[in-house]
Amino acid sequence: MEIKGLQQVETIIDVRCDLCGDSCKQETDDTQSLEFGTLKANWGYASRHDGESYNIHLCEGCFFQTLANLREAHRGIRMFDKDHHPFTGTETDPLAEK
Ligand SMILES: [Zn+2]
Repeated sequence: MEIKGLQQVETIIDVRCDLCGDSCKQETDDTQSLEFGTLKANWGYASRHDGESYNIHLCEGCFFQTLANLREAHRGIRMFDKDHHPFTGTETDPLAEK
């Protein structure tokens, strides 16, 4: 026998960007969605940051600014590698998930 009733359920209604503080809620005429990226890490025993966890939420603007910063760091680290070709935007992004 099923007994039905109403219950309150806690849900995520918004996400705030951990960098700029803006809402990540996007609305169109008939829909709402939460659009954000995350920077996530759980450092373990063998790391220098053992026990530290990060789950950083970034709005679209801050995510792509962070991605641009990572691309610049990637370029700086790899620029003297023999097989390095600078990212121009026309090829597959080396930092994008494949
Ligand atoms: Zn932001």
